[in-house]
Amino acid sequence: MTVYAQPGQDGSLLTFKPRYENFIGGQWVAPKNGSYFENPTPITGRTFCEVPASTAEDIETAIDAAEAAAPAWGKTPVAERAVILNRIADRIEENLEMLAVAETWDNGKAVRECLGADLPLAADHFRYFASAIRAQEGGLSQIDDDTVAYHYHEPLGVVGQIIPWNFPILMGVWKIAPALAAGNAIVLKPAEQTPTSILVLAELIADLLPDGVLNIVNGFGLEAGKPLASNKRIRKIAFTGETTTGRLIMQYASQNIIPVTLELGGKSPNIFFGDVNAHDDAYWDKAQEGFTMFALNQGEVCTCPSRALIQQSIADPFLDAVTERTKKIVQGNPLDTDTMMGAQASNDQFEKIMSYLDIGRQEGAEVLTGGGRADLGGDLSGGYYVQPTIFKGSNKMRVFQEEIFGPVVSVATFDDYDDAITTANDTLYGLGAGVWSRNGNIAYRAGRDIQAGRVWVNNYHAYPAHAAFGGYKASGIGRENHLMMLDHYQQTKNLLVSYSEDKQ
Ligand code: NAD
Repeated sequence: MTVYAQPGQDGSLLTFKPRYENFIGGQWVAPKNGSYFENPTPITGRTFCEVPASTAEDIETAIDAAEAAAPAWGKTPVAERAVILNRIADRIEENLEMLAVAETWDNGKAVRECLGADLPLAADHFRYFASAIRAQEGGLSQIDDDTVAYHYHEPLGVVGQIIPWNFPILMGVWKIAPALAAGNAIVLKPAEQTPTSILVLAELIADLLPDGVLNIVNGFGLEAGKPLASNKRIRKIAFTGETTTGRLIMQYASQNIIPVTLELGGKSPNIFFGDVNAHDDAYWDKAQEGFTMFALNQGEVCTCPSRALIQQSIADPFLDAVTERTKKIVQGNPLDTDTMMGAQASNDQFEKIMSYLDIGRQEGAEVLTGGGRADLGGDLSGGYYVQPTIFKGSNKMRVFQEEIFGPVVSVATFDDYDDAITTANDTLYGLGAGVWSRNGNIAYRAGRDIQAGRVWVNNYHAYPAHAAFGGYKASGIGRENHLMMLDHYQQTKNLLVSYSEDKQ
């Protein structure tokens, strides 16, 4: 067990600056209007730094810097770009613990997840796209004996990226790595709830990138996000956040006819078929672990398995087992590596979850465990902690249909396969799903029948860089991760060349 010291205290791996600026053109640049907002840590609720409340003017400055940097970066040989991306990965790995503490302090999540998942995945993402861009090939079609069509991948130029607060560094890297690999320059706006850790990362890697290739402008959605997403000078906008905001982003982009990728909300079903307890103890245990994944990252995951559907034949023993297991989830100081669940990312999010706990009860859902605030006492008493909660009810309830984005799972039972699939698909969303069965036919059919972009079979919450990730239905457009991501950051140039010597 390790307990990391709080930033700024004796023995800590980092001290935050009291005030951060925007990262533009390789420099730290104050917002034009001189306005800043306070950033509290969800761990104690106390402010630890202030961050620019940027406006359209700052976005324009950042786009100037990106426009200046984009042509040279786009022409940099892919091998050189790949070397830089690999160096960024090295730098992340060399500073893994410091970045983990920064991310935990800014977001509230348990440091063990930053150490074991968020940051190793971020480093691997840079390595994956460093390799992917070098392996990418163009195409050639012979039109006739004298005429050839060459197909080249070209960068788009300056791209805009807007990210949420649940995995500030990893969601940033999911967008930054492929965009840089493909030769674009970036203006990125972090979420106002978690504006700082991505700046710590930018500071750490600033010397590795040409000035202006990566620009980070902080601020609020309407004041900074909208001027970025609706800017005539960006060639693409990538967004992760709420479905309602995603609709606005599409409207802005439509004015400028630019491509959009959207990673939006979810209400993912996790389906446990009746054969789950017919195998060995290890599989029974693994399935229970898959159920409790609803509390991973405090449930602030777009693919949170927030609806569990359990076949009637195993419902009683399975629910008893997972309820006991959920009670054993360790809540505490997020900087303690024994802590499994930390604080919700903001007070607003905390309040939203608390209101859904009330809604669930009012709708008649049964609380199997949890159901309230977790009072951890001492220094943590001002933080935003919620007990992991299991509701039992029916799929028409609001707690089954609306995204809570907290450590809350709503459980329903089903009789047969058709019942399970109908219930699973009875949602606005289609981002993730889980299927638990050792019956290959059931697992395969369910995987194909569920309307979601990612279906985990006999596992959950794995995010390898080389598996495509993205939503069906109202969960989004386009994919992140995987080679196909490069298509979202490139355009195709076709050169149609005649080599004919015929003079006519
Ligand atoms: P949000 O939409 O409120 O904010 C996301 C970002 O958009 C923030 O940076 C915010 O400042 C900005 N923004 C807000 N209004 C804007 C506007 N009008 N124009 C431009 N930018 C604007 O979402 P959130 O509450 O920060 O994030 C939580 C949501 O993100 C959840 O719904 C979750 O499911 C979703 N999410 C999805 C994925 C995915 O991959 N599909 C991943 C993580 C989170």
